[in-house]
Amino acid sequence: MHRSFFAGLALSLLAAAAPAMAQGHAHSHGQLSLDVAVDAQDITVRLDAPLHDLVGFERAPRSVAERGRVTALLEQLKLADKLFVLDPAGGCKLGDVQIASAVLGLGSAPAPAKDEAAPEHADLDMTVTFACDKAAAARFIDVKLFDAFKGVRSVDAQVATAKGQSRVSLRRAASRLPLDGSAQ
Ligand SMILES: [Zn+2]
Repeated sequence: MHRSFFAGLALSLLAAAAPAMAQGHAHSHGQLSLDVAVDAQDITVRLDAPLHDLVGFERAPRSVAERGRVTALLEQLKLADKLFVLDPAGGCKLGDVQIASAVLGLGSAPAPAKDEAAPEHADLDMTVTFACDKAAAARFIDVKLFDAFKGVRSVDAQVATAKGQSRVSLRRAASRLPLDGSAQ
């Protein structure tokens, strides 16, 4: 009897916690995350960034100046090969750049309804595909996010290659991401 009571309590706590986690998942400003996948012919870079670190706010722009910042950001992100500078050995060229941010009305995620309580945080996701002659020959990516966005303090990167997976935390002073698993 006690057992089932506690089991029921745990379940209802889980149910209560789930929506809060789904809405604007907790991030820390200054901390970005990067997922890199190296395939035979391409390298895919997926960035997840707090919107705060890119434009200084985490909601829809409210003024001409704020709209200007968003426009400038999108222009900057489209030049993704300036933010992620790949080892020339891979012979990689910038391909598709996809940007998603619900509060900016970008991508497939629906914008939050007006009468909903505004989530505390909002992210921007970007997926960049590079088409490469020989992706496996690329041994690093120089991550320029620290130069491009002054608020960025760390970039937690995961790399998946044919050889395995590695994880490394990049800093301003150590912003070269190894692709050959040597970080592990
Ligand atoms: Zn935030």
